Amino acid sequence: MNDIVPPKQVKVEYETDTPVLYRVEDATAWITMNRPAFNNAQNSQMTYALDAAFRRAVDDDAVKVIVLAGSGKHFSAGHDIGTPGRDLHKSFDRTHLLPDHTNKPGAELLYTREQEVYLGMCRRWRDISKPTIAMVQGACIAGGLMLAWVCDFIVASDDAFFQDPVQMMGIPGVEYFAHAFELPPRIAKEFILLGERMPVARAHQLGMVNRVVVRAELEAEVKKIAANLTAKGRLGLWLTKQAVNHVEELRGKRSAMDAVFHMHHFAHAQSDLTQGNSLGGMDAKSMAAANKKRAGEA
Ligand code: ZN
Repeated sequence: MNDIVPPKQVKVEYETDTPVLYRVEDATAWITMNRPAFNNAQNSQMTYALDAAFRRAVDDDAVKVIVLAGSGKHFSAGHDIGTPGRDLHKSFDRTHLLPDHTNKPGAELLYTREQEVYLGMCRRWRDISKPTIAMVQGACIAGGLMLAWVCDFIVASDDAFFQDPVQMMGIPGVEYFAHAFELPPRIAKEFILLGERMPVARAHQLGMVNRVVVRAELEAEVKKIAANLTAKGRLGLWLTKQAVNHVEELRGKRSAMDAVFHMHHFAHAQSDLTQGNSLGGMDAKSMAAANKKRAGEA
């Protein structure tokens, strides 16, 4: 009989107390993921800190624009599936009216947790009343895509690349299923089924990225966009982003995401049942090794 509850990690060791940095400059809040030693892998410590930072930026009337950045070489390697700070089995004060996940049996554990920290939080952030800009350098992988996609703008450096490799875990894409909205359907299939890296030039060509600049000019380019926006009226900015978001809703974004979220969890549950592991037997090491092998073959 397989153990369908993911194995508990006995000890969580956080390498920092500040997984997210926050500063305000020129009416712009800079929210920076700060786990550079782990390529900004997102544990719950970080996602709750991100949520608190977004709340702070929304509450501050002096902030008109929000930038989401990642410190170090890469924007984000995705969800934390293997650092010492992986805190899957830790309880936090929820931001939604959802129960604690840690004592739930079987598939209910991940289903409850991912409603809160992935689908729920990403939707909250996407609907923030102020324009948001993702500043992306290096890797933007899996859960990293979710953070870039919730922003209104994506500005990237010429070394950036995008990838959703979770098909290797038997999963049809990350929890916030915006793939087929961010990319044309046939490209979305290619992106997930092959799991290959999409270079920033192609992402730009397909309309997933607004602007591409050399790494040294990335921050200046983001500041240029922020300066344009901060000169405009608060309500007009909010209404404008809502207008476009509403068109996406009319195209079925929310209901598509709800449907695929359940496919995602069917896949997690199937892996639990057949392999005793909700990630299809993969962890950070084996994912990286498979990626390397594929890059060598290409
Ligand atoms: Zn998941």
